[in-house]
Amino acid sequence: MDFAPTDIQTMVRDTARKFAREEVGPYAAEMDKQAKFRMELVQQMGELGFMGVAFPEEYAGGGMDYQCYAIVVEELSAVCASTGVVVSAHSSLCCDPIYKFGTEAQKQKFLPDLASGRMLGCLGLTETSAGSDAGNQKTTAVADGDQWVLNGSKIFITNGGPAGVGVIIAMTDKSAGHRGMSAFIVPSDAPGYKVAKEEHKLGIRASSTAELVFDDCRIPRENLLGKPGEGFKIALATLDGGRIGIAAQAVGIAQGALTAATAYAKERVQFGKSIGSFQAIQWKLADMATEIDAARLLVQRAAWLKDAGVKSYGTQSAMAKLFASDVAMKATREAIQVFGGYGYIDEYPVERFYRDAKITEIYEGTSEVQKMVIARSLLRD
Ligand SMILES: Cc1cc2nc3c(=O)[nH]c(=O)nc-3n(C[C@H](O)[C@H](O)[C@H](O)COP(=O)(O)OP(=O)(O)OC[C@H]3O[C@@H](n4cnc5c(N)ncnc54)[C@H](O)[C@@H]3O)c2cc1C
Repeated sequence: MDFAPTDIQTMVRDTARKFAREEVGPYAAEMDKQAKFRMELVQQMGELGFMGVAFPEEYAGGGMDYQCYAIVVEELSAVCASTGVVVSAHSSLCCDPIYKFGTEAQKQKFLPDLASGRMLGCLGLTETSAGSDAGNQKTTAVADGDQWVLNGSKIFITNGGPAGVGVIIAMTDKSAGHRGMSAFIVPSDAPGYKVAKEEHKLGIRASSTAELVFDDCRIPRENLLGKPGEGFKIALATLDGGRIGIAAQAVGIAQGALTAATAYAKERVQFGKSIGSFQAIQWKLADMATEIDAARLLVQRAAWLKDAGVKSYGTQSAMAKLFASDVAMKATREAIQVFGGYGYIDEYPVERFYRDAKITEIYEGTSEVQKMVIARSLLRD
């Protein structure tokens, strides 16, 4: 067992950290306040290979592995969790299913624009009546000549507003239940595709969370991803990978909170001493650091399993997300406590980290759903 990062992983962490601090950091608070993402960052991250870290260079990807991808999402999230999820949803939820299940023609057509950051991607799975129960889809897709016609809507779609393309899950055979779901690659300029609404959120406020409506939305027949009836399988496989990205986001948020709290503990003086000299504060920092390290190891193990081509790593990615999201909640709460009153106001970033942490317990499967996934693997057979 080797815990030492490779030279490439060290280089990726250094590059992502520098970019996050120098190029994202100056805008993070303002993007959060305005609830608006600075799209220039997507272009800059595309140039650095961050929009397609784990995809081969022949598709304009970074040619690296999923461990490097998790490192990039963590480092971005340590400064701005919105930037972390823009990259994570784009890479894990849109690029990854096209790379894994797409035909060569689909990969050639969509991946170079996506992986280079020229175009942003999203995944449309959730509907008003299909949240944790993702199999309860109402959006339909019907074959009509050489086209598919989609009708229905998707809610809470990350990157939904600016996305140029989405992987959209829809029912092609209602009578077959979740085996009647199929996946489609839907360009946002397809006729009948509408961005209906942008949500206002507690955290990750700069990332777009939109409702997408398909009103007789027509796409070419060849935009079916995988085979008819494989939509549920594709969605679950996609979420197995996606959860590693969200777990990495949670580790990043927690680390960002710890870094800020540690610096503040050194400089804030009360009772004539720095508050970092009080054992109560030291123990908070020690617990945060230990739990963040444990979460990071779970994230890297799940990413390593995916890189190793292990068929089933869903339990390990669920464990990583479950644990890391809990760590993010605790670390950000304790960071505010270390800051006292200053933690509660927006002069420092910890109140933003606290608001951002909550979503990691909800999207790509709530913590309760992660426990269902883990328990199912324990009780199988
Ligand atoms: C900011 C944001 C971004 C998102 N991005 C995307 C995206 O890009 N693409 C996409 O498709 N979706 C996205 N989602 C949707 C997200 O994945 C869902 O909100 C999430 O899966 C939970 O579904 P729900 O909101 O319908 O909650 P519900 O399923 O209604 O759950 C409500 C509560 O009941 C619990 N619960 C439900 N079923 C069970 C059960 N069987 N056992 C125990 N407890 C249960 C849940 O854990 C939760 O606590 C996003 C959501 C948000 C808020």
